[in-house]
Amino acid sequence: MKIIDAHIHFCPGIESFRMLAEQAGHRYTEEHLQAEFSRLGIEYAVVMGNRAPDEDIPVCPGFLHYCVGLDSGWEQLDEQRLAELVEQHLRRPDCVGIKLYPGYRHRYVGDRRYAPLYELAAQYDKPVAIHTGATAGGMGLLKYAHPLTVDEAAAQFPQTRFVLCHFGNPWLTDAAAVMEKNENVFADLSGLLEGRVDMDTLFQENEGYFSLLRTWMGYAGGYEKLMYGTDWPLVNLEQYIAFIARLVPECWHDKVFYETAKQVYSL
Ligand SMILES: [Zn+2]
Repeated sequence: MKIIDAHIHFCPGIESFRMLAEQAGHRYTEEHLQAEFSRLGIEYAVVMGNRAPDEDIPVCPGFLHYCVGLDSGWEQLDEQRLAELVEQHLRRPDCVGIKLYPGYRHRYVGDRRYAPLYELAAQYDKPVAIHTGATAGGMGLLKYAHPLTVDEAAAQFPQTRFVLCHFGNPWLTDAAAVMEKNENVFADLSGLLEGRVDMDTLFQENEGYFSLLRTWMGYAGGYEKLMYGTDWPLVNLEQYIAFIARLVPECWHDKVFYETAKQVYSL
């Protein structure tokens, strides 16, 4: 099976990521990642940028592409400068989209500062990936990360493709409703686990949750618009493939593990 991992983080120098990688049974190096990718049949991954557009100098060997991130450190830039910087990234062939963190930036997806970027994304035919659902740590605010907030932007910018990262988890119903209504909204399945797990115990103990997850993933043809992603270094790469393969019906594997990401991120 060919695989695209549509959501990883690879930002050498961020110490917490190195620790998470080790907890998940990995090393946080390019060589290790490349070796794991070839062992597991992962053709490409999309790195979600974790710096501001003026300092996001991505590490992108051939098997990695990236979304320019609007994490911290960009809000002091004026509108025009921000748009110029983002556009410089979008012109690069290895930049395949924009990544927003509204829950961590305390801004709604409909915030006026994001609007010019949605237009740029459409112009360059590259998607806007948005962290949706639960936030890590005390600083995030859930109301800004709710998947329902993407509905309005998706309706206002019909030429822009949006990706609900983490499928809005745990607001699965809302994420599915936004995807069903808006042709231009997709989702990735990253970050639904953390660290290493015992898969059988996990499925036994969370039977109700996984049943809901399957229900809303499949709702109204939902598998068409779902993409495999891990949120590495948070998870073990091999385990996560087994995890998603167990949740998604086999007839959808090619689509979910590869084809949809290839189209959405134009890889
Ligand atoms: Zn992530």
